[in-house]
Amino acid sequence: MRRTALIFVWAAFAVSPSRATEFEPRLHVDKSPTGARTVALTFDACSGAIDRRVLDALLETGAKATVFVTGRWLRGNTEALGLMKARPEQFEIENHGAMHVPTDTDTARIFGVKTAGTMEAVRAEIAGGAEAVTKATGAKPRWFRSATARYTRDAMEEAGAQGQKIAGYSLNADMGASLPAPTVEKRVAAAKSGDVVIAHINQPTRSAGAGLAAGIRALRASGARFVRLDEVETRPEDGPPISTPRREVEDQLHVQRDDHRGDQPGRDGHPAGSDELTHLRPAGGEPDQRDHGEGKL
Ligand SMILES: [Zn+2]
Repeated sequence: MRRTALIFVWAAFAVSPSRATEFEPRLHVDKSPTGARTVALTFDACSGAIDRRVLDALLETGAKATVFVTGRWLRGNTEALGLMKARPEQFEIENHGAMHVPTDTDTARIFGVKTAGTMEAVRAEIAGGAEAVTKATGAKPRWFRSATARYTRDAMEEAGAQGQKIAGYSLNADMGASLPAPTVEKRVAAAKSGDVVIAHINQPTRSAGAGLAAGIRALRASGARFVRLDEVETRPEDGPPISTPRREVEDQLHVQRDDHRGDQPGRDGHPAGSDELTHLRPAGGEPDQRDHGEGKL
C-alpha cells in the first residue's frame, strides 16, 4: 500500500518535468518618491476582440497602461489599436507573441495545449510577435510576456537576446478573465504601491471586464499614479518553481480558446479533453488574497 503511494507520488512528478524548470517571474515598479500610490496596469490582448468597457475606462480616466498584444490580435483589431496609438503618452504596446503559444521547451503540451516545444519555435513566437508590434506601432517592443506568463529559462534568455525584458507581474487581477466583476474590482482597487497588475482587455463578454473598468475608476478616484513599464524603474524577481493553481493557468491559456464561444460562467471542475477546456471559477467564490503584493496566486 505504502509502496503504491510512493510510486504514485513519483509518477506525479515524473509526468510534470516542467515544474522544475519553469519560472513565473514577478515584477514590481519603483514607488513614487512623492509617496503617491504607483501602479502599473498591464493588459493582455491574447486574441479575439477588444473589451471596450476596459478601454473606455482607460480613455476616460487617462490611466496609463501597458498593453501586450499578439500578432493574431492585431490582425482583427485595427480600430482599437488606432485609439491606443493616438495616445502614445498613455498607451505602451508590447509583445505577447505571434500566436499566443506557451513558450516552453521542455514539454510538448501544457494542460492539453500544444507548447512551442523547441527553441526554434520559441524564437519564432517571440520574433513574430515583435515583428507584428513593430509593424503596427513603428516601435520595437521592449517587453515580452508569454501566453501563460511562465517561461522555461532558455525562453527567458531568448527574449533577452531579442532585446526584450520579461514582463512579470505582482497582482493577478482577473485570473485569465475568469473572476466575477465585484471580485476583480476589489482586487484592482486594492493594488499596492509598486504593483504590476495583470488583466485582460480582450474578453468583452466576460464579467471580469466590468470589474476592471470599475477598479480603474476607483484607483483614479483615489489619486493613484499610473505608470507605463517603459517609463519607470522595474524590479524583476524570479518566482519559485510553478505553484500557480492549475485552474488559473488553464484560464490564461483558454482565453484564446473560447473567443468565439462567449462566456460560460459558473462551470467548475476540470474537464478531461483539451477541446472541452473552459473557464473555471475558483471554487468557493472569493479567491485567496494572501498573494496580494507578493505575486503568487
Ligand atoms: Zn494571453
